[in-house]
Amino acid sequence: MKEGYIPLISRARSFRDRTAIVDSEGGSTYGRLLEASACVASSLLGRADDLGQARVAFLAPPGFGYAAAMWGIWRAGGVAVPLALQHPRPELEYAVDDSAASFLVCPPDYEERLGPIATFRGLPLIPLPEALEARPVSLPDVLASRRAMMVYTSGTTSRPKGVVTTHEQIAAQIETLVSAWGWTSEDRILHTLPLHHLHGILNILSCALWSGAVCEIFPKFDARAVWERFVQGGLTLFMAVPTIYVKLISAWESFTPAQQREASAAAARLRLMVSGSAALPVSVLSKWKAITGHVLLERYGMTEIGMALSNPLEGERVPGSVGRPLPWVEVRLVDESGALVPPGTPGEIQVRGPGVFLEYWRRPEATAEAFRDGWFKTGDVAVVEDEVYRILGRESVDIIKTGGYKVSALEIEEVLRTHPMIEECAVVGLPDPEWGERVGAAVVLKEKGGLDLEALRLWAKERLASYKVPSLVLTLEDLPRNAMGKVTKTAVVRMFDK
Ligand code: AMP
Repeated sequence: MKEGYIPLISRARSFRDRTAIVDSEGGSTYGRLLEASACVASSLLGRADDLGQARVAFLAPPGFGYAAAMWGIWRAGGVAVPLALQHPRPELEYAVDDSAASFLVCPPDYEERLGPIATFRGLPLIPLPEALEARPVSLPDVLASRRAMMVYTSGTTSRPKGVVTTHEQIAAQIETLVSAWGWTSEDRILHTLPLHHLHGILNILSCALWSGAVCEIFPKFDARAVWERFVQGGLTLFMAVPTIYVKLISAWESFTPAQQREASAAAARLRLMVSGSAALPVSVLSKWKAITGHVLLERYGMTEIGMALSNPLEGERVPGSVGRPLPWVEVRLVDESGALVPPGTPGEIQVRGPGVFLEYWRRPEATAEAFRDGWFKTGDVAVVEDEVYRILGRESVDIIKTGGYKVSALEIEEVLRTHPMIEECAVVGLPDPEWGERVGAAVVLKEKGGLDLEALRLWAKERLASYKVPSLVLTLEDLPRNAMGKVTKTAVVRMFDK
């Protein structure tokens, strides 16, 4: 067989008999994952030799089927576009249309959602369980320099953009973490994150599969179930967003003293616990240390670059900091003119390295604007103190990080403005110990009293399903403005503060 340039898949051949994934259906070996993904690839190929980087959008619950679909798309020469399970139809349609997907893939439970989208566009919908059993055909050579994946991420100026990475770039993003965090085939990680975001796809699932480790996947996060799983034993790693640690802490606090002791002792047995995708409040780090003895390893990264900065596996982890650059990743801090800033002075984080993405899909201008002299401009501001980086925030107030996910304030404002009673609105991020930031929406009505907060909340909940509305805070107060009559977002934040 000629096929075999995809680094993750080539490596899997050396772990054939080991368990790769454990999900609600039980355990599956690497051998089974290789077979099933070859079947998915065959069913996508039909009579074609190679998908030639055609986009394949797929909607699958976290588990073996998801991994087999992703690998199958890759092995057929396609670009995997993971869709978000909680997205309503317009968001799914947006990803399918923007990526110009040629195929859709999903299990029967999701056919009701993807079926009409496929039919309307005349796209083939490949049913997942059948695809896992399709008759294998010869698979194409897929060079590692080809496009592999497209993950949608929110920006300030436009609708979400597809962040395209190649197989090589994915391999580089994995290798730096495997090296820094000491992944081995003896590891066993519990996966409770969604699989349309880099944290779940790369840091957990792909690092585990690269290492020959076991990835145990829960269909969704449930604090009690996670504690129960810790207690059963055998796990070595856990990675999550700060919001999840906050939820785990509050579940632990609801236990009896005996349960608390058992849960704490169980968590203490893991070798490493990591937090990232949003700032980890020092209070949460301290509480988690008191409960489990673990100083959470905080790291910093972004969909476009993979992970860039990390506290060390061995050695001191500085609370409130994100450590130093990861292996093979170059990081610099610059001022507005692009000049390097000295230690102690805040600057924008810029990143260069083999894991940095290829392009924003079909947005050459946005891609060009995102780089300066070959360095990716993250838009995050940090400062270096005693040689470690501390994140100060983002340059744009219009990107909100809630529950580990980026949402665009401008997009939410646009949605709110479609309500017939809303005259004006301003959306801001509000600091919050559980969510990192909550989405704060201040709304001015066309007619005073024409809408109450509860009715607005219900309406918004439906329209904003993909924007993590659980964190939405609404107010009907008048918007603060500057002398020019312009709404200033910092003043809106202060208003919420009161
Ligand atoms: P995403 O592309 O959705 O992973 O979001 C990346 C953004 O999350 C970064 O640009 C940061 O603003 C934020 N972020 C990630 N990790 C951290 C961290 N440890 N502390 C603070 N912000 C973070």
